[in-house]
Amino acid sequence: MRITDVEVLHLRLDTIRDEANGTQDAAIVRVHTDSGLIGLGEADSSPHIVKAIVEAPRSHSIMAGIRELVVGEDPLLVRRLWHKMYDGTLYFGRRGVGLHAISGVDIALWDLAGKALGQPVHALLGGAVRDRIRAYASALFAPTPEETAAKARRYVELGFTAMKFGWGNFGQDLARDVAQVRAIREAVGPTIQVMVDVGICWDVATAVDMAHRLAEYDVFWLEEPLHPDNVAGYATLSARSPIRIAAGEEDASLYAFEDLVDRGGIAIVQPDVSRAGGLTESLRIADLVHRRGRLCVPHNFSTGILTAASLHLNAVIPNALFQEFPAPGEGSPLNSDLISPAFSVQAGYLAISGAPGLGVELVPDVVDRYRVE
Ligand code: MG
Repeated sequence: MRITDVEVLHLRLDTIRDEANGTQDAAIVRVHTDSGLIGLGEADSSPHIVKAIVEAPRSHSIMAGIRELVVGEDPLLVRRLWHKMYDGTLYFGRRGVGLHAISGVDIALWDLAGKALGQPVHALLGGAVRDRIRAYASALFAPTPEETAAKARRYVELGFTAMKFGWGNFGQDLARDVAQVRAIREAVGPTIQVMVDVGICWDVATAVDMAHRLAEYDVFWLEEPLHPDNVAGYATLSARSPIRIAAGEEDASLYAFEDLVDRGGIAIVQPDVSRAGGLTESLRIADLVHRRGRLCVPHNFSTGILTAASLHLNAVIPNALFQEFPAPGEGSPLNSDLISPAFSVQAGYLAISGAPGLGVELVPDVVDRYRVE
């Protein structure tokens, strides 16, 4: 079997709003082969730029487009191809969107390998240690504590036992921030796990102070209070915060995560499989996190392709904790309707598929509705 083409589908809602909602567009990757099998992947990044990185013609030996690097290769040699893509994009790659594009192709290669061998991706990653995982509802803060509390109550009614609120107007007014978290805790009672995603807007002193104030409401983790480049700040905060510190969704490559874990000292590590370097690199990151005795909780807020890929990673992580899952009503149709079969949370858990590959396929009508050229 040989790779014949790599295709990037750009999907986009009619209107894009300036809010922290990553489901408004999507870069879907399809790896085609001479066998007729097609691998499906995603890069949660700017679709235009991912497309350019895939389609770019070669400039020289360590600067080439990904399509040119992989066409003609055997798609089952996934690890070999990961390094060929990484080394072949060295000048513009190594981090950021270079790794995002590699992630999309890598996920598609794993899907393809699973389909070719009749095995779920988690079996090819070494074998699942669970057949389901607890999902946490991931949502934006509503404008007022009362509206946020109403969302929280709804997620409990839907069976979730853990939830995270983030962004929105959080971080702009410390008194209101405390009121928001207090309202959530009062709405859900003492047994539900509650996490807070700060949205990259505090300095270290504010984050330390707020961690102490929010600890009263039993917040399980405080996510991204600081800029992702402030690794020294994360070290100070992690040492002083009574709440676990979570970060990592902005980062790509094992090297970046090694820095964030070893120098930044964070407790909860959140690689996004479609940005950090695909399943190949995310497995290496998860292994590092396990060795350091921290928890790896993959970031997931895009289409169902990323949810599927994240579940296959979570299936093989020995100390896995949660699958992030966009709360009902929080994502766009690109999150809820793009793939089949759709995911559904049962009594707070997501099942891990045993179907070949990722176990999901695109819904053609939804692709046609949102595809742009
Ligand atoms: Mg986040």
